Amino acid sequence: MPVYSLPELPYDYSALAPHISATIMELHHSKHHQAYVTGANAALEQLAEARESGNLANVNKLEKDLAFNLGGHINHSVFWKNLSPDGGGSPEGELAAALDDGFGSLDAFRAHFTATALGVQGSGWAVLAWDSVGARPVIFQLFDQQGNAPLGVIPLLQLDVWEHAYYLDYRNVRADYVKAFWEIVNWADVEARFTAARAATSGLIVPSAG
Ligand code: MN
Repeated sequence: MPVYSLPELPYDYSALAPHISATIMELHHSKHHQAYVTGANAALEQLAEARESGNLANVNKLEKDLAFNLGGHINHSVFWKNLSPDGGGSPEGELAAALDDGFGSLDAFRAHFTATALGVQGSGWAVLAWDSVGARPVIFQLFDQQGNAPLGVIPLLQLDVWEHAYYLDYRNVRADYVKAFWEIVNWADVEARFTAARAATSGLIVPSAG
């Protein structure tokens, strides 16, 4: 039995239009995300074979394959849930307070995240994450599916800025895609991740003082 499987979307392929078209959603989910799932399972299988045979010559390649493909599986699994046809608006409650504290204001958070997404060189993601060491939200760029991210952070909100995520709808105008993204952010999902991340990671990486 494969370890990883493609999750079903919580909405139809056409549900996010006109912000993201059904064509992109179907290709992105059924082809791109599926390929990461298949690749992550294949890497695990080949690592198991390498251990059994005692031939670990390909371990570097296989671990890179695992990081890239499991990264792709995780990123897309979060991203689909971060979106909703009923999304948009602003975060509320403790999440809004944490973003306000962490970034100065909700507008400053939004501007920082937008600039992060627009600035990704090549393929990657903008990520809002919970930093379990500093006990605060952080924003960073994720290169490809796994690069430039420190361990110990839990993703809360992710935006895919690979060209496959927007080019059919927006061509080269990534800024319009990012603008549309804010109209479909599922803040209830982001808040649920925030609450769970805080509860699960306190003292996990670096024990908290006192
Ligand atoms: Mn993607």
